[in-house]
Amino acid sequence: MANQNQWQILREEIRRQYELFDSLTLRCIEEYSNSGKRIHCGKGCCECCNLAVNSTYSEALCVAEILTEAQTALIKAHADKLLKHIAEVSDLKSYLGMQRKIIGFCPLLTDNRACGVYGQRPFSCRSLLSTLDNAWCATDFALLSPAEKTAFMESLDRQAVAFPMHYLAASRDLGQQFESRSALALAATFGFTLSGNLPFLIYLEKEYGLGSIMCHGYSVTMDFLRQAGLFNPFLVTVEKI
Ligand code: SF4
Ligand code: SF4
Repeated sequence: MANQNQWQILREEIRRQYELFDSLTLRCIEEYSNSGKRIHCGKGCCECCNLAVNSTYSEALCVAEILTEAQTALIKAHADKLLKHIAEVSDLKSYLGMQRKIIGFCPLLTDNRACGVYGQRPFSCRSLLSTLDNAWCATDFALLSPAEKTAFMESLDRQAVAFPMHYLAASRDLGQQFESRSALALAATFGFTLSGNLPFLIYLEKEYGLGSIMCHGYSVTMDFLRQAGLFNPFLVTVEKI
């Protein structure tokens, strides 16, 4: 059976991977800037924190262990809201729409529009770099006319972006690779992976100590999540390897 020491090893590995990831991402930004263009992200810019943010459980644990009581309370309120509205969701599109319109910003965003856990934010947050003005990060594309969507797509630098989005492809791809590596490390330790909505995973750890439950294996974990009414595929993904 896996144990807490293994979680410690996984968390330490994630933190090493964050350092490596950040240095590789800096290189991506430099390469993009050398072509005479610029990345629009900066401090206090946070429209992307209104999107659904996913992570592996190891990444969520790195955040969970540094939270203040006030942040923990905000995470709980956010998770309660998610649980209240998730039954209204029927597909990915409605989940993403609910996140943006009803659930709102990440509870870890501070009043001065900074990330409250910046050093421990997951790969998905680290990898999102915008090649366009942040107004595009706040845009609900479902509300654009066909002509506006066409104009947006024609404005994109297709060599650089993760088309049809305006985010840098190189850092997006790196983020996916590092996240997969984190999932593989989980699978090697527990025999299954667990990932999902970042605030919800943090809530599962702070409220229920799911990391300890995971040490008992896939079946115990799934039984717990189902019996507690906490299993929803938009919020938690568990894959047996
Ligand atoms: S992704 Fe968009 S909203 Fe987020 S920091 Fe970059 S420009 Fe700002
Ligand atoms: S963890 Fe930080 S960067 Fe990521 S969505 Fe939350 S506030 Fe934004």
